[in-house]
Parts: sequence; structure tokens; C-alpha cells
Amino acid sequence: MTRILLIGGGHSHVVALRHLGRRKLAGLDIHLVSPDLTTSYSGLLPGHIAGHWTRHALEIPLPPLCRTAGATLHSTRVTSLDPVAQTVDLASGGTLSFDFASLDIGAIAEVPGPETLRTLGVPVKPLGPFADRWSAFVSQVETGKIQPHAAILGAGTAGVELALSMKYRLDELGLSRPVRVSLIERGTELLPGGNVSMRAQLQRELQRACVAIFTGETVADANESGLRLASREHVPAGFVALATGARPQAWLAGTGLTLHDGFVSVIRTLQTVSHPNVFACGDTAHLALDPRPKAGVFAVRQGAVLAEQIARLAINQPLAQYHPQKDYLKLVSLGRRRAIAEKWGITLNLPGLWALKRHIDLKFMDNS
Ligand SMILES: Cc1cc2nc3c(=O)[nH]c(=O)nc-3n(C[C@H](O)[C@H](O)[C@H](O)COP(=O)(O)OP(=O)(O)OC[C@H]3O[C@@H](n4cnc5c(N)ncnc54)[C@H](O)[C@@H]3O)c2cc1C
Repeated sequence: MTRILLIGGGHSHVVALRHLGRRKLAGLDIHLVSPDLTTSYSGLLPGHIAGHWTRHALEIPLPPLCRTAGATLHSTRVTSLDPVAQTVDLASGGTLSFDFASLDIGAIAEVPGPETLRTLGVPVKPLGPFADRWSAFVSQVETGKIQPHAAILGAGTAGVELALSMKYRLDELGLSRPVRVSLIERGTELLPGGNVSMRAQLQRELQRACVAIFTGETVADANESGLRLASREHVPAGFVALATGARPQAWLAGTGLTLHDGFVSVIRTLQTVSHPNVFACGDTAHLALDPRPKAGVFAVRQGAVLAEQIARLAINQPLAQYHPQKDYLKLVSLGRRRAIAEKWGITLNLPGLWALKRHIDLKFMDNS
């Protein structure tokens, strides 16, 4: 039996398990190590924050996926990996050996600025705990224990989506107290490095929703009532979301795998550059020859490729080559059951796009 060890139950491994469940391959002993029993689907997260989807709606349960794929689920996290000894250490104690391993442990949020922000800020990743912290905040707002003031650090696509979703949710509470949502970006403009037309449309949408925008700003200090910016401006916030970029998990540095900015470098087969017995996919991976942004769209596609590679390993066939799409359809939710789309530099803002996003997201969930 060839032992395949899937490390992390992220978007890629969810898709790989779905494929493996359908193919029912012989000769494989598949294991999944995941600290969580569910994976939160990022496409539905902004809608959940806005109050359109329940927490349950975001969750993809891992045990049934493992059962169908014939995989053993280890409910713990991996703390180190030795690609030469072909073993991993588990947080619960003990080790697991493998013939082939695949890393899909996502990325963690970068936490910038002062120590006080590290304590008070809520990283958007992992998505599940972030959703829980937001729900707890909304409950406290509803009972009047806390002011309806929120701030988001980082005005990339995720930060803008969250700002619009949070504003919508707090507005919908119908409070007599004024709602304040602020979006703070270190760069001089929203969506740094993003599409110009998308930026202009999102800027209009933020203004329309009365989200306060601070660009070229960093946080100097934070306390329970809000943030003090480097410009000395005070931003009221009882909830501070950190959408400040993706950082790799620190323990990867001790694995001996070739890394790029801390992420695992892979070749077109999704095998790591340094060790062909270890694969990496999703946000954890850096496609050395053809780098792509860290987006769920790529993680999902790579999951299907990984399943194909596992099937080929089972019958000793050469592995497939992965050629990622050059661009992808970005559907950005605007909080108020509207979405805008961008692909190939063209931005569309049409009423039917929310329904399209809803259809794509629910179709993905239906396949769980
Ligand atoms: C607000 C927001 C909205 C987004 N919207 C979109 C969108 O609309 N479209 C899009 O394409 N992308 C979107 N993204 C990006 C998307 O979330 C990520 O690219 C995607 O989640 C990456 O999936 P992944 O498979 O790499 O890992 P993830 O889905 O992040 O999962 C990683 C998993 O690894 C597990 N894990 C972590 N450490 C360990 C360990 N040591 N051992 C074992 N398991 C471990 C975790 O429990 C987690 O389940 C959004 C991101 C955010 C923050």
C-alpha cells in the first residue's frame, strides 16, 4: 500500500478528497491531518459577515469526505515534517510516516504594527474563527454592550469586501446609534496593484456605503475603543479585522523544503522543487515557474490536479503538468446582495452578478 498523507483540510485537499472519493483507487492508504473537522469556504464568507448566510452554510464537513475517499482523519495539526525520513510530527503527540505527502495548510494573516494591535486585531485567516469573532461582536452590539464601530486593516479585495459586508450587517441592525466602519490601507490607494476600473468602482461603492477610507496610513496604537493612526487620527473600533496579507506558517522553514518568501516552491507537477515525495498546493504553494496570486480559485483547481497525481502514483504513471489559468473571474461581493466582476481587465457591475456568484458558490458547496 502507498501511504498518502494530506496535511491540512484546506480548499485544495477538500477538492482532492472529493475526486478521490469518486475514483475509489486501489492500493492507497490515505490519511488527512486537520485540526478542524470542517473547512470554511471563503467564497461565502463575505456573505456570512453581511448576514446573508448562516455559519453552517460556510462549512464543508471533512469526516464524510474522508469516509467516501477511504481516508483516515487525524484530528490534530502537523508541527514538523521531515521529507527525508518521510515522517511528520503531530501536535497531539506521535508521528506519522508517508510515502507521499501533500501540504495544504493555507496561509496566516500578517499582523503588522504595535503589540496592542496584535492583541486586539482579529486575523481574517483562519476564516472560521474570524467568522465566530465577528458573530460575537455583532451580538454584543445588539445587546448594547459595545458600539457599532469596526475597522478593517488592509484594502486588498478581501479587505474591501469585508468592509462593505460589515457595514451592511451593522446598518441592517437598525440601531439608533451611528454605525462607523473604517478601512485603513498602508498604500496610497485601495487594491494596491489591482485593476484601475475595479478600484474606481469599489471606491464609489465604499463611499456610497459611508465606509470611511484612510489610505497611506498605519496604526500607531490600539485599545478597546479603537485605533490611533500614525497621523494621530482616532478611528473608533470595537472590532478590528486584519486583512493585511498572507504569511507562511513558521514551521515550514524547518522542513528543509525549498521555500520562496517562506512558501513552499513547487514545479508544474505540484511536487516541491526540492523533494519529489512532497507536494504542496493552495496558498501554501509557490508555483516557481508560473507564480499566481493566493486565491481560492487556484487552490480549488490544484486540488483536482493533486487527485490526478495521486491516481497516477497509484499505478506508477508519469505525473500530469499543471498550467494555471492566466486570469480568473473575480466576483467581489458588495455587501448588499450585489457583486461586481472583473476579468482580463474588464469590470462589470450588473444586477445579475450577485445571482451568478451565489450560483457558483452554492454549486461548490453542493459538491461537498
Ligand atoms: C475574506 C476573504 C474572502 C476571500 N474570497 C475569495 C474569493 O471570493 N475567491 C477566491 O478565489 N479566493 C478568495 N479568498 C482567498 C481564499 O480564502 C484562499 O486563497 C483559500 O482559502 C486558500 O485555500 P487553501 O487550500 O490554501 O487553504 P485554506 O482553505 O486556508 O485551509 C488551510 C487549512 O489548513 C489547516 N491547517 C493549518 N495549519 C495546519 C497544520 N499545521 N496541520 C494541519 N492542518 C493545518 C487549517 O485548519 C485549514 O483548514 C478570500 C480570502 C478572504 C480572507
